[in-house]
Amino acid sequence: MFNKILIANRGEIALRIIRACRDLGIKTLAVYSDVDERSLHVQLADEAICIGSGPSTESYLRMDRIISAAEIGDVDAIHPGYGFLAENPHFAEICANCNIKFIGPKAATLKKMGDKAMARFHARKAGVPVVPGSDGIVESEKEALRISHQIGYPVVIKAVAGGGGRGMRIAHNDVSLVQGFVAARLEAEKAFGDGSIYIEKLIEDPRHVEFQIIADTKGKIFHVGERDCSIQRRNQKLIEESPSPIVDPILRKKMGKTSIRLAESIDYEGVGTIEYLVDRSGNFYFIEMNCRIQVEHPVTEEVYGIDLVKEQILIAAGYPLGKEWEELEPKKHAIEFRINAEDGLQGFRPCAGKVDFLHFPGGPGIRIDSHLYQGIEISPYYDSLLVKLIATGNSREEAIIRMRRALDEIMIEGIKTTIPIGKSVFQNSDFKRGEYTTNLINKILAAKKSLDEI
Ligand code: ADP
Ligand code: ADP
Ligand code: MG
Repeated sequence: MFNKILIANRGEIALRIIRACRDLGIKTLAVYSDVDERSLHVQLADEAICIGSGPSTESYLRMDRIISAAEIGDVDAIHPGYGFLAENPHFAEICANCNIKFIGPKAATLKKMGDKAMARFHARKAGVPVVPGSDGIVESEKEALRISHQIGYPVVIKAVAGGGGRGMRIAHNDVSLVQGFVAARLEAEKAFGDGSIYIEKLIEDPRHVEFQIIADTKGKIFHVGERDCSIQRRNQKLIEESPSPIVDPILRKKMGKTSIRLAESIDYEGVGTIEYLVDRSGNFYFIEMNCRIQVEHPVTEEVYGIDLVKEQILIAAGYPLGKEWEELEPKKHAIEFRINAEDGLQGFRPCAGKVDFLHFPGGPGIRIDSHLYQGIEISPYYDSLLVKLIATGNSREEAIIRMRRALDEIMIEGIKTTIPIGKSVFQNSDFKRGEYTTNLINKILAAKKSLDEI
């Protein structure tokens, strides 16, 4: 087993990893930017090293400084969390060359899934249905027009390097396609340093259903059910639940088997998530694979009574997965709500500021994963996630009741958050019936003149 792990991340996920290490008796080394000096991951880790200034390109993305910190701290492994360097094959390779275990899949696997056009290619090769669209990168306007005519409008123009809901444009006709194609390329080049784009059919009113995969280094691969992440704003998840209200045991078996087949075909190791869109007729289509721990992993942990971060570490240390993973069944229902520092009335624009007063809810079925404390300054440099509020019950109804109870108790003062929009979702009748799509938040916002009405 590892003696010490460096955590190449910040915020709630850095804390989550520290907690898993504590439970396993492993020492932790935190790295941080100067604006994070007083953050909880720095205070709670056994050791901490400053790796630069606020902008992540000057700290959390600096592979050279992270590797130096690893060498100074004499760690055995690096846990990258999510975002930052988590899916960077080059970083995984450097770790391997320095004899430091990268806690995640092999660099070759990350390469196959890192580029979304390439991921579609590997999914198709494994016999997984993908959203109808281009065979690979679309090089010219002419090609974009040809593909769009073939699959039919509306289409989505997507950046191969996109992520976090960014790098997507919808086109309804030739004019918006040609305009969008040029703009999307420029935007992607600027945002991701890679202007390559591809085209997919727009699935109208879809559900986002994803499968949790877990694989050891001995070739054993299992799935741990699904999460429904259809409650989104700006193509980014806000609320996730497991099991999905639209997945019955037959569909679970089918999608689970398909997911395992894909993971096997790319020699997957560790935990990962395969994302699909499900259309109104119940057809499912692969959209991408996230080769890392997912933000919303706690709902799966609550439903199946497991610890996915601990498993990541055990797998990286060479422990095999036992037979018990074959018979996992969803016994509970869990819902996660992401409380972000965002203004729901201003297009969910992130807001910086100070948390003047903080009170967290508790009681049966409530879990909080958060790096907040009273007085913390939220800096504009990083993502806006403040709190993951997870409610679990024996039924979906019980989970929703507990979530609403927790939202009545929670107090975060000083900054705008997504709490008002969350409250409105948990009261919404379509949500309560489990009949919702990725459009629900837009529908709710369109029906209200202001969030004060909620
Ligand atoms: P999840 O799929 O786990 O729900 P999110 O889409 O919420 O993940 O993203 C998790 C974190 O990773 C966010 O901080 C997001 O900004 C970041 N992220 C994801 N993909 C990319 C990417 N391609 N480039 C930059 N950041 C990314
Ligand atoms: P990211 O890397 O940003 O997570 P994804 O490809 O996973 O990008 O898509 C994020 C979300 O955008 C999906 O959950 C869905 O709501 C929407 N989306 C993506 N592709 C399509 C599509 N072809 N049709 C409809 N919605 C889509
Ligand atoms: Mg995604």
